[in-house]
Amino acid sequence: MSMLQPGDCHAFEAGGRRFLYLAPSAAVMAVDDVSAAVLDEVALRSRSMEEIVADLSERFPDGAVGESVDELLKVRALRRIDTPMRRPAKVLPLTPVPLSTMVLNVTNQCNLSCTYCYEYGEDKIVQTENGKQPKMMTEQTARESVDFLLRESGKDAHMTFFGGETLLNFRVLKTTVAYAIGQAAALGKTIDFSMTTNATLLSPEVIDFLAEHRFGVTISMDGPPDLQNKFRVFHNGAGSYDIMAPKVKALIAKHRSRPIGARVTLTRDTLDVRRIYDHLTQELGFWEVGFAPVTASPDRPHAFGDEGFEQVLSEFRALAQDYLAAALENRHHGFSNVRETLGEIHKGASKAWPCGAGFGLLGVSTGGDVALCHRFAGSDDHKLGTVKDGIDRSKQAEFLGTHHVSDKTDCQTCWARPLCAGGCYHEAHTRFGTTNKPNLHYCDWIRGWTDTCLQIYGQIAQVNPGFLQQFEDANEAPQPS
Ligand code: SF4
Ligand code: SF4
Repeated sequence: MSMLQPGDCHAFEAGGRRFLYLAPSAAVMAVDDVSAAVLDEVALRSRSMEEIVADLSERFPDGAVGESVDELLKVRALRRIDTPMRRPAKVLPLTPVPLSTMVLNVTNQCNLSCTYCYEYGEDKIVQTENGKQPKMMTEQTARESVDFLLRESGKDAHMTFFGGETLLNFRVLKTTVAYAIGQAAALGKTIDFSMTTNATLLSPEVIDFLAEHRFGVTISMDGPPDLQNKFRVFHNGAGSYDIMAPKVKALIAKHRSRPIGARVTLTRDTLDVRRIYDHLTQELGFWEVGFAPVTASPDRPHAFGDEGFEQVLSEFRALAQDYLAAALENRHHGFSNVRETLGEIHKGASKAWPCGAGFGLLGVSTGGDVALCHRFAGSDDHKLGTVKDGIDRSKQAEFLGTHHVSDKTDCQTCWARPLCAGGCYHEAHTRFGTTNKPNLHYCDWIRGWTDTCLQIYGQIAQVNPGFLQQFEDANEAPQPS
């Protein structure tokens, strides 16, 4: 007698209704009464088909329970206890995946000295000393990067400028944009631009340029003065809030063609998510705010421990309720972490790799080395080629072949793998010294947050399904973080 138990899925409730998130297909499935009863039968101990049918025969018509068991087995929400869990299939691309986003580190210098910064602190992985990588990208290297992107991309290309502090090399950024527009037009391709900046160097000239070229702009900022000035300081230790806040307001007032977002780094000492969100949206006028826990080795004073992740989760959950209330009334809410996860759920995202790093997204160092992403740009160990000579396809194939979700033992059976797939390579490298390891230190946080977003998704799907239409239309290029 074959015994049955819960399968490769996650059960959740939303708006009084039961749902399953099916990991093999990344689909959300509403559970009817019969299936709910079947799932309850196996929740605490394994049961045979015959036992389940006998237990439920008085509650449901003949045949309904058997049909439901078959259906649940088919979608792998149930599994036979004597059948091992199936590993996600390892499917590798046979031909190169077109590049969609190229992140140019136009400088590795910064006019701030943020205590937690991965680029300069004790966790840094890129050598900028001894002439290994120049401080500023030259115009020539930037042009070669444009040529590289347009060679490797499909019809639509996205170029994003990053640093250090990006605007320290505004001169090259400006000429590169002009060159890219001309080259893309000549090839019949479209190209758009974005950048990340700490906002301290925004001037009227820069703001006009960004507005004119419809730049997507992300401002790295941590919140009201006391939080911003805690870590985001100039080299002399002075806080940056008073310098950058008026410039942010000027940017938001002038640049109206694309929404401006803030990107907040959370540390164990700056965890007041709602206060940060309210300040950035209400006082400064940001359209959206995204939060990310700091990337740091566990022994750094600002790094997160388990308690920190729990607190972030509870703060996120509270703010996510505001997002839900707004969504049910078709109002905008700028908590971008929810929007991004809802978009992935709605599109049925099922990731074999955690992000596009190494194929759809590549980073370029100031010297023109091409790496997994901007956080690895300039690191010899993570180099995949150069803008001059192109991508080393065998290195790229080796990377994709060794970082697939099916290579990560714990992730193979995790219900959150379609959206997580092991998490950020840079986080893993900082924590464990290698990009191969899954980020098992934050699984509870990832699963807790995914569960919250699934509940929100389920409620919106029932009460205001039209709100989800925006995720079908959206086709965002991945943004560096
Ligand atoms: S890192 Fe953790 S949460 Fe993410 S897929 Fe792997 S096991 Fe699941
Ligand atoms: S998630 Fe991590 S590895 Fe992927 S692009 Fe972002 S920083 Fe790079």
